[in-house]
Amino acid sequence: MKEFQDFSQVFFEETGLSLSSRVPLADYSSFRIGGPADYFIEVHDLTELAAAVKAARKYNFPFYVIGGGYNLLFDDAGYRGLVIRNSASGLQFRPEEGSLEVASGTHLSELVGQTIQEGLAGLEFLAGIPGTVGGAVFGNAGAFGQAIGDRVLAVTVLYGEGQEQTLCPEELHFEYRYSSLKKDHKIILRATLKVEPGSRPEMLKKVEDYLNQRARKHPPGQVPCAGSYFKNPVLPGGCKIPAGQLLEQAGARGMRVGQASVYPGHCNFIINLGGATARQVLTLAAELKEKVWQTTGIRLEEEVIFVPADASML
Ligand SMILES: Cc1cc2nc3c(=O)[nH]c(=O)nc-3n(C[C@H](O)[C@H](O)[C@H](O)COP(=O)(O)OP(=O)(O)OC[C@H]3O[C@@H](n4cnc5c(N)ncnc54)[C@H](O)[C@@H]3O)c2cc1C
Repeated sequence: MKEFQDFSQVFFEETGLSLSSRVPLADYSSFRIGGPADYFIEVHDLTELAAAVKAARKYNFPFYVIGGGYNLLFDDAGYRGLVIRNSASGLQFRPEEGSLEVASGTHLSELVGQTIQEGLAGLEFLAGIPGTVGGAVFGNAGAFGQAIGDRVLAVTVLYGEGQEQTLCPEELHFEYRYSSLKKDHKIILRATLKVEPGSRPEMLKKVEDYLNQRARKHPPGQVPCAGSYFKNPVLPGGCKIPAGQLLEQAGARGMRVGQASVYPGHCNFIINLGGATARQVLTLAAELKEKVWQTTGIRLEEEVIFVPADASML
């Protein structure tokens, strides 16, 4: 990383966009945890997103792109570089092709709502999953036996010095909570998703059912957390065991480190009781993993992504 007196000056000259400095990342994570980012920008369209990423790459300045911040645990030390919050939203329907194109900063709630409005079906299972299309494609978000990767026809990404590339699903290697984008630091600009004509009342009924099921299992919206903390382990035959069940059996209920606690309603959620630190969450998560390992011989893997202060998408 080059030493800059003030990267915001260089960035403004490159992009015409202004950066904020010393921005508390706790404000941009559903966990409500995280120290200050040296620099921060919220981008509102894909041109701004591309310009911000290209400028950071041109100057070899560490950066990290986030969507809604619903699957992240930021470092107590914050972030040494530029955090780019992607709010580039927009949808284009192509019913004759059985598809739609969506900008990566579009919230899933907006995607689902507008798709139903258009009378197009297939994305109802995404209802209630918080976050953006970019975050969802990155981690192949899903629920109720379906995942966004099942619906992806193409994803346009930004890579290298700022070239665009359109990837097909085979190149993205979607698996349970995984895409190849987790490995290669490509920035998601847009996704083309498969949809089909459907009945609005039926779609609305499905969404209502999904939301009701989620409300029974998940912490209420105001409880700070980042969703399921661990992935459900997949056995060699392909069968998944709920991590919550393993944690419950291992005695996770009631466990707590400082202000980080296991959610009483579902052991696979770690919640912030108020003022929890990333260190406390990581310590609790390590203790939970150890308990499950000791009782079952199964190693849980994190679904929540810890972003260390020196992480980078360069
Ligand atoms: C209450 C609750 C319930 C949840 N339920 C579910 C569920 O049922 N199923 C599920 O799968 N998840 C669930 N989650 C987790 C979360 O909603 C998903 O992981 C979601 O896809 C995160 O999207 P985001 O925009 O918030 O991504 P962020 O948390 O902001 O980012 C996640 C990762 O994606 C990367 N990323 C984001 N945008 C881009 C981009 N444009 N280009 C490249 N990389 C990018 C980030 O760098 C980061 O590594 C839940 C979370 C909460 C808080």
